[in-house]
Amino acid sequence: MASVKTTTPRETGSAAVESRPVAIVLFGSPGSGKGTQAKYIVDWLGIPQISTGDMLREHIRGGDAIGQAIQGRMNAGSLVSDELVNQLVFERIHKPDCEHGFILDGYPRTTAQAEAMRRLLAASRAEEVVIHLVVDYNVIISRISGRRVCPKCGTLYNAVSHPPKTEGICDLDGSRLVTRDDDREEVVRERLTQYENQTRPLIDFFRNTTGRLIEVDASGDGPEQVFKCIQAELKDLVRR
Ligand code: ADP
Repeated sequence: MASVKTTTPRETGSAAVESRPVAIVLFGSPGSGKGTQAKYIVDWLGIPQISTGDMLREHIRGGDAIGQAIQGRMNAGSLVSDELVNQLVFERIHKPDCEHGFILDGYPRTTAQAEAMRRLLAASRAEEVVIHLVVDYNVIISRISGRRVCPKCGTLYNAVSHPPKTEGICDLDGSRLVTRDDDREEVVRERLTQYENQTRPLIDFFRNTTGRLIEVDASGDGPEQVFKCIQAELKDLVRR
């Protein structure tokens, strides 16, 4: 399997080249395809996807104290607290499967989260690579409204662009597909407002401070084509 290798410029060319974990930050609005691209990158690089949205939904499904505290905000399309998501990500990236790197999907979403992420990455000496999936607003609305998800394996489908073989049924495990509670139209609008106000401004933070920012047009082409662009940009990360 492919593994991930990054070197700092200082290390390149020296005899003892040291590997550093890579932190791939998938950045983009709701419906930009972060989850779909994350899954391609997982298969390609063999590093785990850390989706804060999935982790939070897991707590809601489990009905624990965290789940009960966040359910109202999530179903209304509002962000949950920075402290909570920072803590969840902190715990997750210290698990052994993150040793060679990880993909952050849906995090950071606020300036406070971006600053916390920087501290975490510095502590684990991870190299940051930001992928910005750029998508037109109207495309986003039509994508999200047709979106269905398998409650068991998390596979995403879309009525128009990626329908299941049998309507309403997951191709992989036969589960009945569902619409996420927060994919209802009025909630989608609130999520997009939150994105515009709290998250989009982070692109300037990344432009000014990250070592590596890749902007990919993710509006028109299919997800495979978007992934090919990402692969071409990141091919130096792979060691066979
Ligand atoms: P999308 O990117 O399509 O909005 P996600 O699954 O990433 O979907 O997020 C769904 C919801 O989970 C958000 O609307 C928000 O309530 C919550 N959430 C996810 N990630 C974060 C985060 N980093 N900070 C705050 N809230 C978050």
